[in-house]
Amino acid sequence: MSLNVAQIREQFPILQRQVNGKPLVYLDNAATTQKPQAVIDALTDYYTQCNANVHRGAHYLSDEATRRYEAARKTVADYIHANRQEEVIWTSGTTEGINLVANGVAQRLKAGEEVLVTEMEHHANLVTWQQACKRSGATLKVVPINEDGSLNTEQFHALLSENTAFVSMPHISNALGTINPIKELTAAAKAKDALVMIDGAQGVAHGAIDVQDIGCDFYAFSGHKLFGPTGIGVLWGCYEVLKDWPIWLVGGEMIATVSYQDATWGELPNRLEAGTPNIAGAIGLAAAINWLQQFNKVDILAHETALLARATELAEQTDGLTIVGHADNKIGVLSFILEGAHPADIGFLLDKQGIAIRTGDHCAQPLMKRLNVPGTARASFTIYNTLDEVDKLFEGINKARLMLA
Ligand code: PLP
Repeated sequence: MSLNVAQIREQFPILQRQVNGKPLVYLDNAATTQKPQAVIDALTDYYTQCNANVHRGAHYLSDEATRRYEAARKTVADYIHANRQEEVIWTSGTTEGINLVANGVAQRLKAGEEVLVTEMEHHANLVTWQQACKRSGATLKVVPINEDGSLNTEQFHALLSENTAFVSMPHISNALGTINPIKELTAAAKAKDALVMIDGAQGVAHGAIDVQDIGCDFYAFSGHKLFGPTGIGVLWGCYEVLKDWPIWLVGGEMIATVSYQDATWGELPNRLEAGTPNIAGAIGLAAAINWLQQFNKVDILAHETALLARATELAEQTDGLTIVGHADNKIGVLSFILEGAHPADIGFLLDKQGIAIRTGDHCAQPLMKRLNVPGTARASFTIYNTLDEVDKLFEGINKARLMLA
């Protein structure tokens, strides 16, 4: 059964609004997704009916807030097929999740050991490892991409060695939409006894994932790219690895005992979650996941594939347009440049027509340099976008092209 996109759109209040006097065409979903009414209602309900601090109150509302907050953890654990709920650590987003892991890795790495990342990294999954290597004296190795924006898997295997202590790679590239064969690459890295982290910021946005099936040690993502609120994210870590992971922030909630001289640490998940958490955010993210789960992953992928196929077809018919990143295995993203036009000008002229895309380096400066482009214009698609919106994008691009000629 295919998705009823008209019905889905009705559940997103923001999609009814006008921008610059035109109906909004929102194609910046890789940056952040819009929120369905179910998520907005969950946040309102929490703040109007339940608001209290968790795990520490001796009163009714605190108990209820704790129940809702921990139920949200279970929703996430089930959604990503975690083995145990304690493997789900709340963070503020993907960036914090990767930093939490990199902080521990930096303490454990030794000179001579290597960390492997790829040429297609978002800065969140590059600067973190670069700095961890600087702190520890380890070496950062970067797996090249092919001309079409796919990962050079031969080079991945060639760069893996007995010295590889850690591998971190994106599930899906935010700048190009390339889907990486993470299961196969994880298995190869595990065979060398390396720990593996997946930057799942773009990976979770297209339906449930299965962390046990992937076989990685860590998987990080952000709620806001999954129809949930900003400021909440998840670091999933395999229990055996996470249980003695170096502590990160210290303070309330994460301790077992405290004296003036010393402290001992609590159990997972609390030991990696200091301070009052983003309770409403966690509940809002669970609402987003519950909302998304009414749709079949196969239908979501079929719809997103059709949107990208249409966009690719129209892009290929557009004079002076070059698609940046043309890998066979990609989803959700059309990155392009237009001859004689700066990406920022394209973005500006589309915005005047109510069409929201992203332009620039997409937090991937080294990748842009590698591809020899100043940046790209990026349209990114999701469950509530329509083929008609893709057509409007190209009407807009053609108008912009004529104006900039
Ligand atoms: N990694 C990738 C691939 C991303 O696309 C993003 C955000 O765009 C991030 C990491 C960082 O996510 P956040 O800013 O939500 O922490």
